Amino acid sequence: MHSHTTTDALIPTSPILAMARRAAALRAAGHDVIDLTLGEPDFAPPAHVVDAAMRHAHTSLGYSPSNGMPLLRSAICAASLRDRGVTFEDDQVTVGCGAKQIIFNTFLATLEPGDEVILPSPYWASYPDMIRMMGATPVILSGLMDDGFRVSPEALEAAITPCSRWLVLNAPGNPTGATYDSDQLDKLAQVLRRHPHVRVLSDEIYAHIRHDGRAHASIRKVAPDLHDRVLVVDGVSKAYAMTGWRVGWGLGPAPLIARITAIQGQNCTQTSTLSQLAAAAALDGPQDILTERNTLYRQRRDAAMVILSGSKALEVAAPDGAFYLFPRLTGTPDDQAMAEQLLEAGVAVVPGTAFGAPGFLRLSCATGLDILSEGCRRIIQALEGKA
Ligand code: PLP
Repeated sequence: MHSHTTTDALIPTSPILAMARRAAALRAAGHDVIDLTLGEPDFAPPAHVVDAAMRHAHTSLGYSPSNGMPLLRSAICAASLRDRGVTFEDDQVTVGCGAKQIIFNTFLATLEPGDEVILPSPYWASYPDMIRMMGATPVILSGLMDDGFRVSPEALEAAITPCSRWLVLNAPGNPTGATYDSDQLDKLAQVLRRHPHVRVLSDEIYAHIRHDGRAHASIRKVAPDLHDRVLVVDGVSKAYAMTGWRVGWGLGPAPLIARITAIQGQNCTQTSTLSQLAAAAALDGPQDILTERNTLYRQRRDAAMVILSGSKALEVAAPDGAFYLFPRLTGTPDDQAMAEQLLEAGVAVVPGTAFGAPGFLRLSCATGLDILSEGCRRIIQALEGKA
């Protein structure tokens, strides 16, 4: 019976999914709970994507190549040129069941026990758990709210050891929305040039979700000379509101891509053929929906900021991108106890501890303006009632 303990420690459940499940169970039992846990757009996928999927569903859909269907690979390369200004060849792209599986397969392909992965915090909760599942060690670089939660070149330099295998960069970041401009990326690249054994996993899944109106900057574009050790990760989940379709991809050096593909071939072979056809339609079709939705995300962010910043119980910075708010609790360091209290008060959020940042809370703005505003009001009421 106790053997479960070891297994559970090695294969932890995502704390985000765990909180979302609790919120869903309470709602199913008839409780009035506003769920601000999941990073899941509340929009439908673009209509032309659904139309394409309906059309293709009537055709015979067989297995497809483990690195993705040729038409999707070509759509990804074209989108990368359009959106990032970077040209990738066909053997530099591989497709998986979401960005998440690409990241998992990448770590599986490259990490061994004793290896280190440099992980700026606050981080997306799955990175450290995946790294530990490979027997490797996450080396956490704590980001400061006052520095926009960015990793500095000095901190990066100091963290690199002979065992460092990867630096994980996630911008716009989950949970903080932190972004890097080209100059900041260039300074990180200067450090990386001195340490050729360190690769960069650049998770750009929120590249299209910006509130500051600035263009996305990718380290792959800023430092083209690092092309043989940068893996760019992206997908359709967030930009096109296609989380459940499970399509993500990696863009990087051909030998690494081949290893990631080999692992994909040995587990689920490929992501759904129908989903791949839909993802190609999303990338090839009109892109104005991205701007329209960005405007809505920004309105939500601004409305939530107005409510939250009206209380001294929270300190909240305006994120540049992604669709989360990451306020600091000023009255208590115990974010986990506070998340429990908030759940009782009818609003579900994820405690900052899940992201390596105790004392913070993550709120997802991927929900309608009225619901989000009501959720924020409940948070303030609960926090101030407490104070
Ligand atoms: N990377 C980050 C930073 C995320 O926040 C998420 C989803 O929450 C993912 C990757 C996974 O995205 P996908 O749905 O493509 O697997």
